[in-house]
Amino acid sequence: MNIQELDNTYVAHTYARFPVSFVSGHGSILTDENGKDYIDLGTGIAVNTFGLSDPDWKAAVVAQLGKLQHTSNLYYTEPCARLAQMLCERTGMKKVFFSNSGAEANECAIKAARLYSFEKYGEGRSTVVTLKNSFHGRTLATLSATGQDVFHTKFGPFPEGFVYADPTDASDVIRLVKETGACAVMMEMVQGEGGVYPLDKAFVAEVAAYAKENDVLLVIDEVQTGNGRTGSLYAYQQYGITPDIVSTAKGIGGGLPLGATMLGEKLTDVYTPGTHGSTFGGNPVACAGAISILSRIDDALLASVRERSEYIVNALTGAKGVKSVSGMGLMLGILTEKPAKDVIAGCMARGVVVLSAKDKVRLLPALNIPMDELKKAIAILKEVIAE
Ligand SMILES: *Cc1c(COP(=O)(O)O)cnc(C)c1O
Repeated sequence: MNIQELDNTYVAHTYARFPVSFVSGHGSILTDENGKDYIDLGTGIAVNTFGLSDPDWKAAVVAQLGKLQHTSNLYYTEPCARLAQMLCERTGMKKVFFSNSGAEANECAIKAARLYSFEKYGEGRSTVVTLKNSFHGRTLATLSATGQDVFHTKFGPFPEGFVYADPTDASDVIRLVKETGACAVMMEMVQGEGGVYPLDKAFVAEVAAYAKENDVLLVIDEVQTGNGRTGSLYAYQQYGITPDIVSTAKGIGGGLPLGATMLGEKLTDVYTPGTHGSTFGGNPVACAGAISILSRIDDALLASVRERSEYIVNALTGAKGVKSVSGMGLMLGILTEKPAKDVIAGCMARGVVVLSAKDKVRLLPALNIPMDELKKAIAILKEVIAE
């Protein structure tokens, strides 16, 4: 059997995969088993922050692999401590809990919010208000937190304590907080899986102000938007708010599984030994790679992310077959006259990898994609959309 037949026979059928097997990659170029090259505008869904086989990241990972691959969280290791310091110094957050995925980072965020409220107010103040059209993960609790009805069937009973507010109406968020006695509001600054939909600044400011006045925790899911993706280190920094909890994953590990939940001032001491944990969380190899990634997301890099974003937005806005372009930085959604799946298939045939998000074509290129490759890929995308 070839790779695709083996996979179809033995791997659980949770993914509708493209009939392509990738075997290697360098920078923003992916190569399949037939030797065909593709320009990658997907980065494995916002994971390969500096592209494929990124030499600095690889060197950091290989160096750590040569020393120590894992110890468990019973002991101290340097990469974990240094990465936490880096995250806190760059965000103003106070503590970090490390896990291995976005869903786990959000589980930790939800547990932290409920624990804070329980310690301070006792039982009953446990609801988390999330937004309609959100996506927070695939575990039972994060599915429950996800504000899309399609995720709330067949796997019940689901954990209770989540209600869904209109993402365009702050008064709806506030009403639900009051009605349920919620401990937290949780949201993505740009709803990624929901169709690359950025929240309105006035909406976010109004929710944040209400939350602050009422000791309702503000939880920002930066699993997809984080780590330079939207043109700032974290997307919330462009909204002028101070979250209580920030979760991230995807791009922070640069290609290895890593989740991080950052806890602000109020939650500095919320977790105590035994209240939460993870066997792999804070793994030294994943953390060494993440230090290499984060240390390169500086002002110059972020300016070049915004520049590349502007190039794409200008090239596609008003182009033939393009209805609209949404998003921030290098997290962009394109609504096309053709169905997104036809655009994706057309691009794949012509050697460009793009993604979908709901009914849109989604672009999540490497933050350092070379301009000539980006231009070439966008030209092909434009042609496929216009065909
Ligand atoms: C991808 C994603 C998740 C889930 O992350 P996993 O690593 O797949 O568990 C959660 N929230 C958002 C906003 C995401 O984009």
